[in-house]
Amino acid sequence: MAKVKIGVNGYGTIGKRVADAVAIQDDMEVIGVAKRKPDFSARFAINKGYALYADSKENEKLFKDAGIEVGGLVEDLVNEVDLIVDCTPGGIGAKNKPMYEKAGIKAIFQGGEEHEVAGFSFNALCNYDGAIGRDFVRVVSCNTTGLCRSLYAIEKVVEIDKVKAVMVRRATDPWDSKKGPINAIVPVLHVPSHHGPDVQTVMPHINISTMAVAVPTTIMHLHCVMVDIKGKVGEEEIIEAFERTPRIILVDGKSGITSTSQIHEFSRDLGRPRYDLYEIPIWRDSVHIKDDTIYFYQAVHQESDVVPENIDAIRAMLEIEKDGKKSIEKTDRSMGIIS
Ligand code: NAD
Repeated sequence: MAKVKIGVNGYGTIGKRVADAVAIQDDMEVIGVAKRKPDFSARFAINKGYALYADSKENEKLFKDAGIEVGGLVEDLVNEVDLIVDCTPGGIGAKNKPMYEKAGIKAIFQGGEEHEVAGFSFNALCNYDGAIGRDFVRVVSCNTTGLCRSLYAIEKVVEIDKVKAVMVRRATDPWDSKKGPINAIVPVLHVPSHHGPDVQTVMPHINISTMAVAVPTTIMHLHCVMVDIKGKVGEEEIIEAFERTPRIILVDGKSGITSTSQIHEFSRDLGRPRYDLYEIPIWRDSVHIKDDTIYFYQAVHQESDVVPENIDAIRAMLEIEKDGKKSIEKTDRSMGIIS
């Protein structure tokens, strides 16, 4: 079967990872990536064999001046692909949508865009079927992806009454030397935070409220999750449900993982590209039930957990695979995701 043709617009934290994940699939190929600046990442993209496209005429000149060959503009790239994965910063995707519509191609947007930009928010475990054949899909943010995976697992074994969660968010990504905080804890003063409603774009039936604070770290987010349940379930059953669920792994303090630092070291020991951790690690020791509430901590590697979701969204939208479970298994095998 011919491989489907994929373009990536925006080659930053998420875009470079999505391009690499597409490149290792046997049913899709990277036709090109669109970038704004002729920086070191542009040279890496060329070394990987990706055709480069500039986001605008003005910036195309910067590439030429830097001696970096480009295949044209993003407007040219969209005419060569079946689907574009838009990985530009939040809000730019919405502005790019008319370009994709004009070219008559499908597009995936990321979590920085509003739900309405695509009209369908995606998590492979929760709603793969709903994305089949769609023209526009939004892969939800890293935090929402993490919450959707663990709530999906819990729902398999017990009815959820309501969820409360606190997101302890990393200040920025490791490459970014400009943002903070570097010595403060910054509460999101819009209470409840947007994360709860964002989960509801995928799981509308879940009653969830969230709060969030940003802390001076770059490696991961951490969630404190409290799930009120209707019905009886044991801690072991919840742990087993997490163990059975793809893209979730259990970690524990007894084996020396007592913070996101050790999870980061664990990722480095796995030896994956960029030390990525596509799975959501949940602390086994933290899973506790008291008065019909399940408590646990989970962490989120913000740079990478959404990457396999983008691959599954491509398969669903281009109808390469109608069975979500099979797509998840194929993606996970190719990326070495622990299941
Ligand atoms: P980023 O800033 O790391 O990368 C964005 C890239 O797009 C940069 O290389 C930038 O130069 C480029 N760009 C900017 N404007 C452009 C344009 N008009 N055309 C083409 N390229 C352009 O951003 P990111 O972290 O990769 O975020 C991308 C999307 O993914 C956002 O919606 C974000 O909310 C979402 N997301 C980010 C994370 C994360 O933690 N970094 C996690 C999940 C989802």
